[in-house]
Amino acid sequence: MFTKYLHRDIIYGPVRSRRLGLSLGVNLWPKSHKVCSFDCIYCECGAYRASRGDDPRLLGGFVSPRQVADALQHAFDSGLTCEHITFSGSGEATLHPQFGDIVEAIRDVRDTMAPEVAITLLSNSTRVHDPAVRAAIERVDLPIMKLDAGEETLFRKLNHPAADVHFTDIIAGLKMLRRFHMQTMILDGDISNCGDAEVAAWIRQVGYLKPESVQLYTLDRPAPYKGIHKVGKERMQEIARQCERETGVQVDVFA
Ligand code: SF4
Repeated sequence: MFTKYLHRDIIYGPVRSRRLGLSLGVNLWPKSHKVCSFDCIYCECGAYRASRGDDPRLLGGFVSPRQVADALQHAFDSGLTCEHITFSGSGEATLHPQFGDIVEAIRDVRDTMAPEVAITLLSNSTRVHDPAVRAAIERVDLPIMKLDAGEETLFRKLNHPAADVHFTDIIAGLKMLRRFHMQTMILDGDISNCGDAEVAAWIRQVGYLKPESVQLYTLDRPAPYKGIHKVGKERMQEIARQCERETGVQVDVFA
């Protein structure tokens, strides 16, 4: 049975994640629904229309950089430890109109309270073509950018983007990032990105974009869209090794 995961607070956790270890989450969005420019068929936050996220009427106002900094300071004051401070939560952090200021506010608290902790961003890549957003992403220690498909048709089936989000903009924006890691959800079923043709198209983009590494993962919990299922570790490893052979980019499997 699908269970929706929405976050109530600005700072949550720390949670132990498959890919990051002990991670303190940063959530910029309300507790009632996700705010995202995608509506991925596998989203743990549940199905909700994709939006630009910049309409305050939708949100009842945005959290401020000061609120985020205070919440993070409070978490550190309470004595918790973590390896990452991670933008994740119920949606896409880069949609926040003050995303850059929030990155700086988090850096200030981190530098004072826990300089060894990495600031990490899990992003769907839909705003990376915007120069101001790209500049803010460059200030994050570990940007992990989503690319689930190698071409537009499958991209639309998997990620259900908002009307003004285009695959070509994502590729162009990622190409302009100085450094990033890629994250790719691999799944199978009525909609699949693990067949030979789909994998070949995706590998071509990895070779073109040259991320520092790729994180491959598959479904961990039931998805809101019932026609999909997880991919076995053996197939995940095959895809990873093929990608490494053809691109020279390191691929890590989290399955
Ligand atoms: S990008 Fe993330 S938050 Fe947005 S719909 Fe996809 S899985 Fe959900």
